[in-house]
Amino acid sequence: MSDSSRYQPQAIESGLQRAWLENGLHATPQIEDGDTPFYALSMFPYPSGNLHMGHVRNYVITDVVARVQRLRGRKVLHPMGWDAFGLPAENAAIERGVDPGAWTDQNIASMRRQLDQLGLSIDWDRELATCHSSYYRWTQWLFLQFLEAGLAYQKDATVNWDPVDQTVLANEQVDSEGRSWRSGALVEKRKLRQWFLKITDYAQQLLDDLERLEGWPERVRTMQANWIGRSTGAELHFDVVDANGAACGDRITVFTTRADTLHGASYVVLAPEHPLVATLTTPEQAIAVEAFCDRVARQSEQERTAEDRPKRGVPIGAQVRNPVNGERLPVWIADYVLADYGSGAVMGVPAHDQRDFLFARQYDLPVKSVIVPEGSEVQACEGSAWTEAGVLIHSGSFDGLTSAEAKRAITATAEAQGWGRETVQFRLRDWLISRQRYWGCPIPVIHCQSCGVVPVPVDQLPVELPRDVAFTGKGASPLAQLQEWVTVACPCCGQPARRETDTMDTFMCSSWYYLRYSDASNTQLPFSREAVDRWLPVDQYVGGIEHAILHLLYSRFFTKVLRDRGLLGFDEPFERLLTQGMVQGITYKNPRTGLYIPPAQVSDPNDPRDPQTGDPLETFYEKMSKSKYNGVDPAVVIDRYGADTARMFILFKAPPEKDLEWDDADVEGQFRFLQRIWRLVDGACARGLSLAGGAGGAAAVAEALASSTAAGGLSRDEQELRRAVHTAIRAISDDLDGDYQFNTAVSELMKLSNAMASNLEASGTVFACEALRTLLVLLAPFAPHLAEELWLKLGGRAAGDALASSSIHRQRWPEADEGALVRDTVPLVIQIKGKVRGNLEVPADADRATLEQLALASEIAEKWLEGKAPSRVIVVPGKLVNLVP
Ligand SMILES: [Zn+2]
Repeated sequence: MSDSSRYQPQAIESGLQRAWLENGLHATPQIEDGDTPFYALSMFPYPSGNLHMGHVRNYVITDVVARVQRLRGRKVLHPMGWDAFGLPAENAAIERGVDPGAWTDQNIASMRRQLDQLGLSIDWDRELATCHSSYYRWTQWLFLQFLEAGLAYQKDATVNWDPVDQTVLANEQVDSEGRSWRSGALVEKRKLRQWFLKITDYAQQLLDDLERLEGWPERVRTMQANWIGRSTGAELHFDVVDANGAACGDRITVFTTRADTLHGASYVVLAPEHPLVATLTTPEQAIAVEAFCDRVARQSEQERTAEDRPKRGVPIGAQVRNPVNGERLPVWIADYVLADYGSGAVMGVPAHDQRDFLFARQYDLPVKSVIVPEGSEVQACEGSAWTEAGVLIHSGSFDGLTSAEAKRAITATAEAQGWGRETVQFRLRDWLISRQRYWGCPIPVIHCQSCGVVPVPVDQLPVELPRDVAFTGKGASPLAQLQEWVTVACPCCGQPARRETDTMDTFMCSSWYYLRYSDASNTQLPFSREAVDRWLPVDQYVGGIEHAILHLLYSRFFTKVLRDRGLLGFDEPFERLLTQGMVQGITYKNPRTGLYIPPAQVSDPNDPRDPQTGDPLETFYEKMSKSKYNGVDPAVVIDRYGADTARMFILFKAPPEKDLEWDDADVEGQFRFLQRIWRLVDGACARGLSLAGGAGGAAAVAEALASSTAAGGLSRDEQELRRAVHTAIRAISDDLDGDYQFNTAVSELMKLSNAMASNLEASGTVFACEALRTLLVLLAPFAPHLAEELWLKLGGRAAGDALASSSIHRQRWPEADEGALVRDTVPLVIQIKGKVRGNLEVPADADRATLEQLALASEIAEKWLEGKAPSRVIVVPGKLVNLVP
């Protein structure tokens, strides 16, 4: 038998979780006219098999939001699913010979069990996994929508190639030294035909609509804007000329945001991949150019553009004419110019661009200063480029113009003379979605020699991923090796054709999952327009800042495309976004050896030392990770303290968007707080208090207030108790509006429980019940098990009532009674000549004249003024009276 007078979370939590599930407490309700739906969503996890504290924090935050909204009468959708395609499953298959599908399903099952232990109010009937064909069938369907809209296309792009295993590698399979994770070979770059989505068509909308996302962190909006990277500038054409300066037909188009510096150009640079490189390279330079291109082909884009790296290049032997002054300039290729950004060509202006300056220094190219600070005629650049705006010099008829004026004037001249125009450029590039991997959503097209790219007919979806595949990690992707799967009749002409063997980037699968939850069992469509418009946009989305750019941007792009296809009726998918901070663990590191030491091996935390060497250790908080031994396993915490304590600690320790430092002592503190609440309610039960029949509810309280007025009002204890109850309601309601301040809400719960501990016993039954009822309802979103258990214990649910209707989680959020917040008397500070000499209790509603009278009549005045009238009296109502003799 368990001891009912002690709080034992292990004895109550799993039973309640089962009861909630069986009674459909978290099922998504039907929406009727007049309902205000609320959609609370956590970013869905990759099913690694292990739930970590970062997950726990994310899902607990969303769960509190969902529970509060339910108590406030909203109809809530709170689903969960699995971002289940991707490399780890395929790596497990290669390394351990397991089936990726079975491996993933096992992990899902194990994580689901761990999630259930947290008491999350998730509607599991809408669960989805992106690797199940019931889901990816619709990912394929949506891809075909993009294809039909002209937003999906193929072009050559560079991939990582392992020359030993003869296979394409994902970026994550290439280490920081550019070697294959498996063979250790230096990875090469290869050109392959790849699928892209035309996100650039939506660049301007994606940028403009950021302004409407007022419920998003400013930081995320800024990151997205920078990623989209809109800049206004000019495209300028430079004619290629022969040795005599005569134009020979070709021209190089550059993009610049600094047309005002055109007279300062001393060379033009092409990306090594630029199509003109082959035609323009002179025979004398051919060998050097080829060698350089080979070297660059092995570098990643990051290496090529890193700011701290020297820029490398070679001249290709060709020359162009500067269109503004006829000057002849050499053409170079350089690693820092990327082919797919802008036109893949830039003009080099060393005096006014730092990168060009370093390049010119390295290769001894002229540095011509053409901009000086306003009011100065001195050349401003010596050791570095002068990149600010200023006034033009050495620029012919444009001399004396400011940079802004010159940009307009030079661009206008270019337009009039046919060698350029104003243009807008985005940093954003089209989204490469094809992967040469197995464990992903197959791209549903067929390549026919006569018909070209043919979409798989919709009634033949899904294109199922074949199972029973051999994984070696070598050679072509496993799909390309399955001849019987690859060869298929062309849907158009019936001739033998080839299936596309590439699969989709997993970001494709996660770009629309939030739409599917609105209609998760639809077998005719990915979702119906009616369902998606009813639930979306998501009211509150919660997830990590690491998804601030790609996932959110791709989801916004999908939403806009599907809107334009008439599949949904809103512009943005996520109304409000909360990016929760990291969970950090205490970390010990030996600064001499660089090794991390597990906290369990540190015997004295006040003087931490390496158990092997005796060296003093560095101590700090860092994101939990296996390699640093600073993780805390959620299962261990739940076993020891229960889910409610884990939830309370996570919510209390830091505001949700801030990093949280794990602290065992604070976990223990929350456990003790929940124990106090248990004892408080236990004591109330022992006194015979019960919430049965609506005791302590609004109607009962109103009646008791009316009759107590007739009987001379509430006792002082009752007044104090009611003030504490209604202060808590108001404060917690405020904390949960707008920005979610769960940490201060938990503090308010602590204050309320303290006030109850001192005033409950001396208060009448009705008000004691009001306090108990309120405490439990306010606690319910945070510690759902304990609140429910105590609710049942106190008779909140009458015998025979179904949990589905009478659970604490079906109650209404309380309203603050303004009357209870009013204080009858307040302390007034009495000063004599500006010095505090004492306090006086005065009626809260006393006016200035009354306060002055009360102060003058007080013993304090008598003592310090010695009977004399003050020369001056200063009254600050509600605060103080200052008597100046
Ligand atoms: Zn055909």
